Amino acid sequence: MAREFSKKFYESQAWIRCRNAYRQSKFGLCEQCGQPGVEVHHKIWLTPDNINNPDITLNWDNLILLCRKCHAEIHMTTPATRSDVMFDDHGNLIKR
Ligand SMILES: [Zn+2]
Ligand SMILES: [Zn+2]
Repeated sequence: MAREFSKKFYESQAWIRCRNAYRQSKFGLCEQCGQPGVEVHHKIWLTPDNINNPDITLNWDNLILLCRKCHAEIHMTTPATRSDVMFDDHGNLIKR
């Protein structure tokens, strides 16, 4: 159940190109454990406020390539049990 605001972004050519190029620059490996990386995580989570800001959404400094395990861990170690945020289909924390 991806939220509309991020769904459009994740389907955009700009993001797909950015994500693929970033993944290639890391040789497709998780930056934390060296296993094959499959998910590009935004260090600053996407919100309706920053979704149209390429300095956040398409900035390589804000990206990290992770395998599924490390990605899940990153989201588990972030402030848990907050009622004002939730995860979208891409594992990004978003405001409810
Ligand atoms: Zn990993
Ligand atoms: Zn993430």
